[in-house]
Amino acid sequence: MTTDNLGQRRRGTDASGPTPEPDHSRSIDPWILEYCSYRPAEERLREALCTLGNARFATRGAAPEHPEVEGIHYPGTYVAGLYNRLAAEKAGREIVNESLVNVPNWLLLTFRIDDGPWFSIDDVEIVEFRQALEMDRGILVREVTFIDAEERTTSLTQRRLVHMSRPSIAALETNIRAEDWEGRLTLRSSIDGGVENRNVERYRELPGRHLEVLETRDDGESIRLRARTNQSRIEVVVGARHRVWLDDVRIEPDRERFAEDATVSEEMTFDLQPGSLTRVEKTVSVRTGRDPAISEAGVAVEGDLHRLPDLDILEKEHAQAWWSIWERFELDVAAEPRVRLISNLHLFHLIQVASPNLHDLDVGLPARGLHGEAYRGHIFWDELFVFPLLYVRAPEIARSVLRYRFRRLPEARTAARVSGYEGAMFPWQSGSDGREETQEVHLNPESGRWNPDLSHRQRHINIAIAYNIIQYQRFTGDIDFLAEFGAEMLIEIARFWASIAEYERLNDRYQIVGVMGPDEFHDEDPGWDGPALRNNAYTNVMVAWLLWTVPEVLGPLPAYQKTSLFARLGVNEAEMARWDRISRGLTVPRHEDGIISQFEGYETLEELDWESYRERFDNIERLDRILEAEDDSVSRYKASKQADVLMLFYLLSFEELTTVFERLGVAFDEEMLAANIDYYLERTSHGSTLSRVVHSWVLARNDRRRSYSLFREALESDLSDIQRGTTEEGIHLGAMAGTVDLLQRGFSGMEANGDGTLRFKPRLPREIEKLAFSIYYRRRWIEVELEDSGLCLRSEVTDEPPVDIEHRGERTTLRSGETRTFRSSP
Ligand code: BGC
Repeated sequence: MTTDNLGQRRRGTDASGPTPEPDHSRSIDPWILEYCSYRPAEERLREALCTLGNARFATRGAAPEHPEVEGIHYPGTYVAGLYNRLAAEKAGREIVNESLVNVPNWLLLTFRIDDGPWFSIDDVEIVEFRQALEMDRGILVREVTFIDAEERTTSLTQRRLVHMSRPSIAALETNIRAEDWEGRLTLRSSIDGGVENRNVERYRELPGRHLEVLETRDDGESIRLRARTNQSRIEVVVGARHRVWLDDVRIEPDRERFAEDATVSEEMTFDLQPGSLTRVEKTVSVRTGRDPAISEAGVAVEGDLHRLPDLDILEKEHAQAWWSIWERFELDVAAEPRVRLISNLHLFHLIQVASPNLHDLDVGLPARGLHGEAYRGHIFWDELFVFPLLYVRAPEIARSVLRYRFRRLPEARTAARVSGYEGAMFPWQSGSDGREETQEVHLNPESGRWNPDLSHRQRHINIAIAYNIIQYQRFTGDIDFLAEFGAEMLIEIARFWASIAEYERLNDRYQIVGVMGPDEFHDEDPGWDGPALRNNAYTNVMVAWLLWTVPEVLGPLPAYQKTSLFARLGVNEAEMARWDRISRGLTVPRHEDGIISQFEGYETLEELDWESYRERFDNIERLDRILEAEDDSVSRYKASKQADVLMLFYLLSFEELTTVFERLGVAFDEEMLAANIDYYLERTSHGSTLSRVVHSWVLARNDRRRSYSLFREALESDLSDIQRGTTEEGIHLGAMAGTVDLLQRGFSGMEANGDGTLRFKPRLPREIEKLAFSIYYRRRWIEVELEDSGLCLRSEVTDEPPVDIEHRGERTTLRSGETRTFRSSP
């Protein structure tokens, strides 16, 4: 990849050089998320935002000295794909929930002077404080100067990492300077196996103890704790090794190792003089029975700890790994500094959930990252918003995430069969084995009532998975993936939709009944006797698109592979002909004035008095909860939680929309598009962080000002915690990725279609001066630079054939090593 022009955009110093001294004079460094005061009330939010991870596991940015402290500190470490099920009784029934497990806390480390109290950030007078997430190299720093009850001043600097190229390793370095005292310092470092899943208050009425501690050990060099999940029976072993320096000289302190309850600790004691500085390295290995290429987790931890070099070497390797990841992922945006900072933060957290370490692991992408326990670590359709960042930068990661679904195809086939359908029906929420994990009842914190949860009716997850495969295919041209996995999933998903669509003789149309769209406020139709919604427009149009597109996508498969696949799955001409009929005959409900109805009968719902709710409540994003607490139901109103109909304009290009509507016999033009956007935007509460991303996208075409303003709001979703309290339960991975994709595809209008042409229709908001990023398109890197004045594309030197490019309708080719510039239209 040629980076000459891109390299200059980035980050301070060379990755192999020393760590730069923090520069307090900078007003805003787009690579550092910095906090300059300690605020207990914000601590849990910061923990989520300062999480460090490598896609194998992640640890919240909690203060090391604390186990959980209600309302302030919640340390949590989550291993990708490590789930456990627990049963409980609620609302008169037995319910079973599967959760991503909070594994033993490796981070714990505190200290005391002589016989004084153990250090806690909450008990001292803070003189100086700084916490900085260095995103270029994946380091979290905390610097605190404090005065204790005995009037002693101490400076504490801690740095930590979760290693990017040694995916089982983490480290915490603690530096303590006795500014004006002398005394005996005791450091206590622990591994706490007594942790539970308690991050989400709403779930606390349900059990959260997933681990049983099997063993704690002192093996002469390190401490170790072995635990096992109590249902899935997966062992987790965490070990820690400690090394101590005093004024730069390695020392051997007095050590004591002991176990208490479910915690194993090591205490290290030595004397400090005024001005002397001690440094302690805690190096940790976290292994589980699901790790690849190990004999057994404990043996692996022992090997890790025995072989690990000192932290300076570990840190160099780690920075180098981040450096090469940023080479691929960086997106440079010339705009307000905060936009640059947040887009880096969003990419940073995406990488920590979906780094190259994910490649070959059997894990999907949890909607809330590995950063907290909301939605119990389940995997939803949010991948749809994440994928576009992966397939143009790291197709191998996108492939790995798709294979998570492929491995669960048998379960999806069973789910379809059990419900009376053909093909494969993937679950709305997915976890370990691919069964439906959506909870059956959920708590409304506003009313305190447990209500039925019908959100599993969002069968559109089966559109999202197919859409991802198709987009992956269009951008990468990866026929091998299609032949081995993709085609089979596409066929089985198409079959499911073809079997759920019912033919209605009366009006000679196909209907889909009983499924809901992305708007979770409407899960059933209050005016209809049947069980659920009829003809959700988003679902029907996307299914029409899918059944028309799948045969086209399968086209390039080599004949022998296609023949054998079709024979194995029993696909024949008659079945394809039926897909074609359905794709032309699905019902698209419309209001009398031509607005697409979100579902049949939507037009007859009542208008909500939005103003009165806005006056009465600070935040009306979760109207469903507000209305239920008033013994009303949001399903009676024309009010959506998030984009539903408008998702169509987010996912399909204008040309695809034109064709799909034409095939369905529905009039479609720019005017209709604009009218639908206005209609639904007024009736959406944005109760999901995904919503603003979609609305910003669909407005980019005609209303750049409003589009930018929604983009800015979406950018703040997590950093400013706009949902007031949800980010501390985990970042919103879809919104994080979706906002960066707005920059990448939304504002550049980048599209790949089936014939290999790469298209651009730039629509840069005035507030963004320039965008620059690299994409890996059909086996070559292309640098993309976009300014108001035009677009510049640069191909690396490659043996691959030229790429066909289209810029606002003008067609050309981009050859190996070539640079092409396109002027914006006058
Ligand atoms: C949204 C869904 C989303 C889920 C997980 C919900 O609030 O309505 O669209 O998939 O959160 O992020």
